[in-house]
Amino acid sequence: MRIDIITVLPELLRSPFDESIIKRARARGIVEINIINLRDYSTDKHKSTDDYPFGGGAGMVMMIEPVYNCISHLTSHRSYDEIIYTSPDGTRFSQHLANELSMKENLIILAGHYKGIDQRIRDHLITREVSIGDYVLSGGELPAAVITDAIVRLLPGAISDAESALSDSFQDNLLAPPVYTRPAEFMGWKVPDILTGGNTPEIEKWRFEQSVSITRKKRPDLLGEES
Ligand code: SAM
Repeated sequence: MRIDIITVLPELLRSPFDESIIKRARARGIVEINIINLRDYSTDKHKSTDDYPFGGGAGMVMMIEPVYNCISHLTSHRSYDEIIYTSPDGTRFSQHLANELSMKENLIILAGHYKGIDQRIRDHLITREVSIGDYVLSGGELPAAVITDAIVRLLPGAISDAESALSDSFQDNLLAPPVYTRPAEFMGWKVPDILTGGNTPEIEKWRFEQSVSITRKKRPDLLGEES
């Protein structure tokens, strides 16, 4: 899979993709992540990517021309399944959407800045708009990193124990069961006996029951129940 992220702040995106699971997935060739500096596609001598809004008002707006140049350059080399714009008014990102996007071959993610991007980019170049929650961040870099991380950990081979991603919260609309590690007792606080008994089918049954009970308590909406 290939993910190309367009940004005016490339440095902000270096370290999230240079650690842990994503770093290993890149090294193994499971995913190629390219961070593209939008300023390289500005034809202006100051490498500007933003300008004042038509009609006046506060804040700057990302210009269409550098974004168009950048996306045209990328799409002239390969076709993309989605050109995503991170935006607070987009579709709310979810595990379901992460699963869907993890099946794609090539993605572009455009990180916005300032007051946002010229609406014509959204109308003519973007295929999907994604929000990571009902709050406003300064830029789309952190959302792009969140979306990329959630996708990459689902790619085959990215996580050593393939079951691990499948047993995470939100897969099958259930929250994850509790997990414990050594010591089996600390300050008198004991690990549930079932987990140290070695009976795998019973442990699986217990985990499933815990998942259902935690989901019912914390997120009954996932089970289609009223809170
Ligand atoms: N004026 C915009 C509005 O009210 O919707 C907010 C612009 S915000 C300051 C700058 C950029 O950050 C946005 O263009 C978007 O790319 C990104 N951004 C901010 N919050 C986000 C969120 N919750 N989800 C996804 N992207 C977000």
